Amino acid sequence: MKTKIVIIDDHQLFREGVKRILDFEPSFEVVAEGDDGEEALEIVETHKPDVVIMDINMPKVNGVEATKQLIEANPETKVIILSIHDDENYVTHALKTGARGYLLKEMDADTLIDAVKVVADGGSYLHPRVTHNLVNEFRRLATANGQASSQPLQPEIRRPLHILTRRECEVLQMLADGKSNRGIGEALFISEKTVKNHVSNILQKMNVNDRTQAVVVAIKNGWVEVK
Ligand SMILES: [Mg+2]
Repeated sequence: MKTKIVIIDDHQLFREGVKRILDFEPSFEVVAEGDDGEEALEIVETHKPDVVIMDINMPKVNGVEATKQLIEANPETKVIILSIHDDENYVTHALKTGARGYLLKEMDADTLIDAVKVVADGGSYLHPRVTHNLVNEFRRLATANGQASSQPLQPEIRRPLHILTRRECEVLQMLADGKSNRGIGEALFISEKTVKNHVSNILQKMNVNDRTQAVVVAIKNGWVEVK
């Protein structure tokens, strides 16, 4: 069964670019497109997609408002927000609507594909740079509350090395730094496919659903350094 996808974006060229990337993936099928949030509800009701990719800035009804309407009508709708803003306020605002993902328009093709797969699977996905910003915010709040977030909660989980290999620890750190799979591959001189394998091993060993959760758990336990 293919993952059915709807793309809502007022910028036709961008929409076509996204569609081309997704069409290249054999397990995906772009079933419909729209150019404003105004028509999102109707398109989704007609095509019943697994994932909706939604631009934020659109002329009539913006993506945040449209996402709210979609999720009110059907709480199970899986929406990935597309935005040019990595600002934490934008992200929080967008995620409050119930969106499962938040991507920056500067993303590479792999990030887009990963995000759709993770969200279709029931997980959540944030663009690596957005994760990095949220991590910083998380740390700031933890410090403001008088607890250094890098302090391990329990001595026995002070070091991740009893469950992760050294290489996996390096990859985990880079996830917290906001690097994409490609960026990690380049930094460690390994292929993106190898990076993906490391990431899926990390998720499995840490018993989390997605890379964002892995980073949050790693920070809580002091397994990564927040730069
Ligand atoms: Mg737009």
